[in-house]
Amino acid sequence: MLDLLIGGGQAVTPDGVGQWDIAVEGERIAAVALPGTLPAAGRTIDATGKIVVPGGVEPHTHLAHLITMHPEEKLYTLGPEEDTRGMAFGGTTTHVDFCFVRPGLDLPAAVEQRVFRWRGSSHVDYSFHVALLGALPLKAFDQIPEVIQQGFPSFKVFTADILPPHPKRPASRIDFGRIQLAMEKVAAHGGIMAVHAEDHDIVQFLYEKFREEGRLEGSNLPLIHNKLSELLSFRRTIQLAAATGAAVYFVHTSAREGVEAVAEARARGMPVYAETLHHYASFTAEDYKSPRGFCYHTYPSLKFPEDQAALWDGLLRDGVSTTATDEYPTSLELKLRGKTVEDVTGGNLGAEARMGIVFTEGVVKRGMSLERFAQVTASNAARILGLYPRKGAIAPGSDADLVLIDPAIRKRLAREDFHVSDYSPWEGWEVSGWPVTTILRGKVIVEGQRLLGATDGQLIPRRIDPVVLRRPVC
Ligand SMILES: [Zn+2]
Repeated sequence: MLDLLIGGGQAVTPDGVGQWDIAVEGERIAAVALPGTLPAAGRTIDATGKIVVPGGVEPHTHLAHLITMHPEEKLYTLGPEEDTRGMAFGGTTTHVDFCFVRPGLDLPAAVEQRVFRWRGSSHVDYSFHVALLGALPLKAFDQIPEVIQQGFPSFKVFTADILPPHPKRPASRIDFGRIQLAMEKVAAHGGIMAVHAEDHDIVQFLYEKFREEGRLEGSNLPLIHNKLSELLSFRRTIQLAAATGAAVYFVHTSAREGVEAVAEARARGMPVYAETLHHYASFTAEDYKSPRGFCYHTYPSLKFPEDQAALWDGLLRDGVSTTATDEYPTSLELKLRGKTVEDVTGGNLGAEARMGIVFTEGVVKRGMSLERFAQVTASNAARILGLYPRKGAIAPGSDADLVLIDPAIRKRLAREDFHVSDYSPWEGWEVSGWPVTTILRGKVIVEGQRLLGATDGQLIPRRIDPVVLRRPVC
């Protein structure tokens, strides 16, 4: 007998959208079939009127992460035990966090520490990008093939320090020589580069200039982390990728210039992918001027209406492949603690809202197809980062990670709709449709506005399909 049957819903599968029943055996999807054709199951969920989508894949989070904006204090973002509650409620069943490797730490040891921290602490499944920071010794790069082999094939680099220098703040930027070395290694061994691309010189020079001019209020952030910086760095990174053969995943694309650089590279057949944040698709630089303006900030910076239009265009058609959060969960007090461009707390709290906001803003308001919705919230991130087809697909053999969205829900989001920390940037937003049931590997983890079960999330080993690394496939 089947364990679980989800019947009567509109299922969004790689083969299209239709009224199909979904059968689950153990942790996997056993069949997707015409209504009424599957045998009885131990439990049946009636999904009539609901849309059944693959569990969300959140490709960019920083949980249990040292907060570098307030270097005098040793503060951390909320950990997986707290933040992944919100992911479960919001329909995200897998997240990819970061393992930061600084000089002095070797790659496998850094990965092991992070894996240990997550074990038994996450409500949803997970993996880690390996972030290569600062002046790493060259021999550290020899460990890249080994960690790819262990199931961690994505390597994050920062082309710029995002904050002004401070004696207690470790540098994150890595030089382009080392980026080239990392690219050569990933290209040869089946990995991908995840790049935070901003121009270090421009950003740091502007911090200095704005300080001298006394222009430190937050509304200056888009003039420091500006559009030209994104243009220069995206294009420089793409040239380096062309020279080395590496595939590139640009995290948190924020400007039209970034979208255009990626589109041109893809038109030349390069395996280049852009992520944006539903945050950048929701807010603009104007929001910095509102009373709690800093609660909308996330690096690089909020941009302008023309940038937002380009991001939506890429999400709706092609060229922007994924939506992420850059999750950086803190209290509202901590998020608003900084008062200037130099000490604003970056990052964002939004993983819980991601699926619901992209549904309302994309599908309902802008006519995004349900197939495209599943791609930009789940399958594309799964493909690019090597989780597909185990994650990101409603198909036989895939993990039974399923989310029921109720398109009939109309509500104004309030504090009580969220389950992490004490604020959401989307409080007060009107939504049409919201996730109501979340299933992780065959087990119902959210139903009837209740979180069920324990922190049973597992580490998922990743391997990227070579086709993803050869040409732009999604
Ligand atoms: Zn980030």
